[in-house]
Amino acid sequence: MFTPTKYNLMNVSDGHVFEDNGWSLADPQSSKPSLIRAQYGKFQPREDLDGLYRYACWLPIKRLLKGSCAPVTYKSEGLARLLGLQNLYITFSGWNPRIGAKMRTCSFKETEAYAVLARMDDSEKRILVVQSAGNTARAFAQVCSDNKIPIVICVPQDCLRDLWFAQPLDSCVKLVAVPHGCDYYDAIALGEKLAKDPRFFLEGGAKNVARRDGMGTTVLSCAEQMGRIPDAYFQAVGSGTGAIAAWENACRLEQDGNWGKNNMKVFVAQNDPFTIMYDSWKAGSRQLLELEDAHRKVEVILAKVLSNRKPPYGLAGGLFDTLRQSHGDFFLSDNNDIIYWMMQFRNLEGYDLLPAACVAVSALAQAVKSGAVKRDEYIMLNCTGGGLIEAQRQGVVMKKPDLVLSPDTPDEEVVQRVSALF
Ligand SMILES: *Cc1c(COP(=O)(O)O)cnc(C)c1O
Repeated sequence: MFTPTKYNLMNVSDGHVFEDNGWSLADPQSSKPSLIRAQYGKFQPREDLDGLYRYACWLPIKRLLKGSCAPVTYKSEGLARLLGLQNLYITFSGWNPRIGAKMRTCSFKETEAYAVLARMDDSEKRILVVQSAGNTARAFAQVCSDNKIPIVICVPQDCLRDLWFAQPLDSCVKLVAVPHGCDYYDAIALGEKLAKDPRFFLEGGAKNVARRDGMGTTVLSCAEQMGRIPDAYFQAVGSGTGAIAAWENACRLEQDGNWGKNNMKVFVAQNDPFTIMYDSWKAGSRQLLELEDAHRKVEVILAKVLSNRKPPYGLAGGLFDTLRQSHGDFFLSDNNDIIYWMMQFRNLEGYDLLPAACVAVSALAQAVKSGAVKRDEYIMLNCTGGGLIEAQRQGVVMKKPDLVLSPDTPDEEVVQRVSALF
C-alpha cells in the first residue's frame, strides 16, 4: 500500500504556509495573484515504484496509477558534437522504447496527468474537468482510460485530429467539443460552466501543484544522470508551466543539499510569430503585452502547443519571476528553424521530435552561438515530446466527441447534457 506523500503548501508571494484542503489551487488567505508551491521532505527516489512514481517523494499524491513512465535522460553524443558541447544532457518525454521512453501519448503532458490524477483520492465522487487543445487532452484521456477514472475533457472541435490512440478508450472518458471556429478559450469557458455544479471540479492548470511537480520530474531525472543541478535549462514554452516547474525543482534540489548550488539559468523559446511572452520579456514587462493578430499567428505556427494567449507569466512565481530569478532569457525560432532541427535531431540522435521540442533545440543552438552558454557547462535540453511516427506505426483509433456544445449554452443545460453522459 502506498502512503500518501507528506507536504505543505506555500504562497509564493508572501511565504505563507498552509495545509492542502485536498485540491487547493490558491492561498485562501490571500487575494494577491500568486502561485502556491508544495514543500516536501528529502529527495529519495523510489526504486521500488514503477515509472513516474520513482519521484513520489516530490509529487503531491495520494495513490499510484498504472502505466506511467518517467522522463528519460542521457548524455548526448551526436547533437553535442555538432554544437561543440561537452556536457549536453537530453531529457526526453515521449515514445522511444530503444532508450526506455514509453510515454504512449508522446509528450511530457503525460507526467502532468499521472501526477494530477494521483492527487485525487480513490474515494473522490466528483468528476474531474480538464480543458485542453491537444497533448494535455490526449494524456489525460489515456491515463483515465487505463485507470478507469471518470473525466470530462473539453476541447475545440478543430483539435480533434490530435485525439488519436492506439486502442479505443474506456467509456469513463467523455469528450465534449466546442464547435468549429471556437478555440481553446471557448473550451475553457464551457468547462467553467460545467464546474459550477458540485458534481464536477476543475483541474486548475498551472495553479495545480501536481501539474507542475509532474512536469518538474524532468529536472529530477536529469539531475540524477548529471549528479548535480544543471547550469542551464532549455525548453519551448506555451504556458510556461513546465519551465516554472523546472525552476521550482532546481530550488528544491539546492535546499536538499547533495546537488550543488542552483545556478540553473532557465532559457525558454516560442515559435515565431507567436511571440506574446517573448515580446513582454524583451520589453522588461511583467504585464503581458498585447499580441496583434493572435488568431492568424496561431494558424501559421507549426508548434501549436506553444500558442497559449493567457499564460501564467506575470503573477508571483510565474514565468517572469522564473526568468528573472534564474538569470534566464527568451529565444525565438521560426517554422524553418523547426524543420531544420527536426531533420538534424533525427540524424544525430536517431528519433523524431515534435515541432515544439525542436523550438528548444533551436534555442540551444542560438545560445551556444551567442555565448549565452559555455561549451563545458552542464546543459539540460528538455525534449518535451516526440516519437509520434513510431508510436502511430501500428495504426490509430480516433476518439470522437461524445457531445458538441456551443460555449453559449446556458449553465444548467451544459450540466444536464454532460451529466447524462455518465
Ligand atoms: C505543452 C507543451 C509544451 C509547452 O509546455 P508549457 O508548460 O505549456 O509551457 C512544450 N512542448 C510540448 C510537446 C508540449 O506538449
